[in-house]
Amino acid sequence: MPLVSMRQLLDEAAKGGYGVGAFNVNDMEQIQAIMIAATETKSPVIVQASRGARKFAEDLYLFRLIQAAAELNPGIPIAMHQDHGNSFETCKSAIELGYTSVMMDGSLKEDGKTPSTFEENVEVTRKVVEYAHPRGVTVEGEIGVLGGIEDGHGAGGSGLEHVTDPDQAVEFAERTGVDALAIAIGTSHGAYKFNKKPDGSVLKMDLLIQIHKRLPHTHLVMHGSSSVPKDLQDIINKFGGKLKETWGVPVEEIQLGIKNGVRKINVDTDNRLAITGAIRKVFAETPDKFDPRDYLKPAREAMAKVVAQRMTQFGQAGHAGDYKQTPITEMAKGYASGKLDTRPSLVGVK
Ligand SMILES: [Zn+2]
Repeated sequence: MPLVSMRQLLDEAAKGGYGVGAFNVNDMEQIQAIMIAATETKSPVIVQASRGARKFAEDLYLFRLIQAAAELNPGIPIAMHQDHGNSFETCKSAIELGYTSVMMDGSLKEDGKTPSTFEENVEVTRKVVEYAHPRGVTVEGEIGVLGGIEDGHGAGGSGLEHVTDPDQAVEFAERTGVDALAIAIGTSHGAYKFNKKPDGSVLKMDLLIQIHKRLPHTHLVMHGSSSVPKDLQDIINKFGGKLKETWGVPVEEIQLGIKNGVRKINVDTDNRLAITGAIRKVFAETPDKFDPRDYLKPAREAMAKVVAQRMTQFGQAGHAGDYKQTPITEMAKGYASGKLDTRPSLVGVK
């Protein structure tokens, strides 16, 4: 089966009132773990690669692995997404490879560190939309700046320094025509998100609710949304790791987001923790082992377990067979006719 447009996955999720996990990949075992979980729970899925992942695995290796996943699992709709594109060129190269969705993170300058101006963000994101939509490819933008750093990308800080302004979010959606929008509501990338269990005073869910009310047709995206479960931290530390105590985004908060327009939830850290814990356990308990399969297999299983759990919690489980997969050439026609336009002033006009 060819890869599916992310826009179709998110439109269907909006109809069904659920969220779709977007899981980061760098290698074959991670891709297989996601497919094990998607098959087991019958879930549509977004697989995503950061610039760091594309560099680590090399574009062609990674993309061919995703194609293999799609070919081997025809019943599972799979969208392939560029996570945090830093420039028009990064997004263009992903589209040329065959990615069906790209994120243009224009909230930061091309260095992936320095916050940009609103006008710079609008300009580069609109340019990506103008290139992507005629090719049927989905675009995610970002407004406000997320906290933390992941894969060398990010402004650092707590995640509360540049929360999204709802007026700016509306203007941004209008001027760019993005399909999906990552908003900053206090979450950050990486394992060290919060130094206490976050409550309503830390995560700005009220902001999210306001933005969704004003932009009901733009799918909202939560980044930095790993839950960083204590049991996964404990396994790592039990077998020789030295993680400091930390809290992620509680699943209940994500579920509240899903009730209020969040359709894509990015998860990376939880899978990294599961993989590392499983490998450490094999090393600690059976130090005589040296066949990589002896620790990569349990690592793959540990990640599949976390992914399946998230798929169930986000509500995407059971929805893989709900709809016929639309080829991206058809999506391109939908954009051309205005049928897929999400701009607040144009929705329902054509
Ligand atoms: Zn992110």
